[in-house]
Amino acid sequence: MDFQLTEEQRAIQEMVRDFAEKEIAPCANEIDQRDEFPTEIFRKMGTQGLMGLPFPEEYGGGGADTLSQALAVEEVSRASGSIGLTYAAHLSLGCAPIYNFGTEAQKQVWLTPLAKGEALGALALTEAKGGSDLAGSVTTTAVLKGDAWIINGSKMYVTSGAIARSINALCITDKSKGHRGLSMILIPHDAPGLVIGKVEEKMGLHGSLTTQVFFEDCRVPKENLLGKQGEGFKQAMITLDGGRIGIGAMALGLGRAALEASIKYAQERTAFGQAIAGFQAIQWMIADSAMELEAARLMVAQAAYLKDHLQKFSQAAAMAKLYASEAADRACWKAIQIHGGAGYLRDFPVERYYRDNRLTLIGEGTNEILRMVIARNVLRDSK
Ligand SMILES: Cc1cc2nc3c(=O)[nH]c(=O)nc-3n(C[C@H](O)[C@H](O)[C@H](O)COP(=O)(O)OP(=O)(O)OC[C@H]3O[C@@H](n4cnc5c(N)ncnc54)[C@H](O)[C@@H]3O)c2cc1C
Repeated sequence: MDFQLTEEQRAIQEMVRDFAEKEIAPCANEIDQRDEFPTEIFRKMGTQGLMGLPFPEEYGGGGADTLSQALAVEEVSRASGSIGLTYAAHLSLGCAPIYNFGTEAQKQVWLTPLAKGEALGALALTEAKGGSDLAGSVTTTAVLKGDAWIINGSKMYVTSGAIARSINALCITDKSKGHRGLSMILIPHDAPGLVIGKVEEKMGLHGSLTTQVFFEDCRVPKENLLGKQGEGFKQAMITLDGGRIGIGAMALGLGRAALEASIKYAQERTAFGQAIAGFQAIQWMIADSAMELEAARLMVAQAAYLKDHLQKFSQAAAMAKLYASEAADRACWKAIQIHGGAGYLRDFPVERYYRDNRLTLIGEGTNEILRMVIARNVLRDSK
């Protein structure tokens, strides 16, 4: 067992940290307060080769492994949760399904511009009826008529859906087959009948675009089916398994930012004639956050390792996302407590970390659903 990063992983970590500290962190508060999409930052991330980091160079990517991707998402999220989420979703939800399930032609046409950072990609699974019971809640239909799919229905909460070049949408192609009748279809942004709904107002992650999309007799070429008809549910599950490593890394970045802010504040703030870092109550909060984030880091790295070594990683990814999101939630909670009244003010970043991280306990499988997934695996393995 080797706990050291490789030279390449360390170089990527340092490059992204440097970029995030210089280009993202200084605008993070403003992005949060203005709730504006930071187009220019994504353009710069494209120039840095970050937007296609884990995909092969032949498709405009950086050829890096999953751990490097997690390190990059962590560093970006440490600077800004909004940019971290948009970045993680672009890689895992927008690009990965095209890379994993697309044909060579689909990869050339649809993955390459995304990986080069020319545009963002998106995934549309969730509908108004609910995201947890995916198989039972999809009502969007796709009917093949001649050489085109005619799509009708709507999706909710689509990250970057308002501006994405392509949206991978889960649709019913054969109602009689239940979850085996679902298929993933790539919807181009200019498809006739694709209507972008309102951008949601959120508790946090301001500056990330969360949108409803409507398909009104939306016409998409027949060849935009990803993989085979009926494979959509399986593809969605595989996509979410990978995505959970990214959400774990995002939580890690936000938790780390909260811990770092806590350490700095505790050393500067005085009470009863001494720095508050001298009080055991404060030390224990810092110790617990440091320990739990370290455990989360190892779990995210293990899930990434298993994925890269083509081993089963579904349970490890669920555990990593669940544990990291809750460890970061606790670290952000403690960071506010350590800051006292200042922690409750917008002048300090810790309340933003707390709001931004809250999503990581909900997105890409709520933590209740992940506990179900883990329990199912553990109980099956114990038979
Ligand atoms: C900022 C943001 C970005 C998002 N981005 C995307 C995106 O890009 N693409 C996309 O498709 N979706 C996206 N989502 C949607 C997200 O994945 C869903 O919100 C999530 O899966 C939960 O679905 P739901 O909101 O419908 O909650 P519900 O499924 O209605 O769940 C409500 C509550 O019931 C619990 N629950 C449900 N079933 C069970 C059960 N069997 N046992 C125990 N508890 C249960 C849940 O854990 C939750 O606490 C995003 C959401 C947000 C907030």
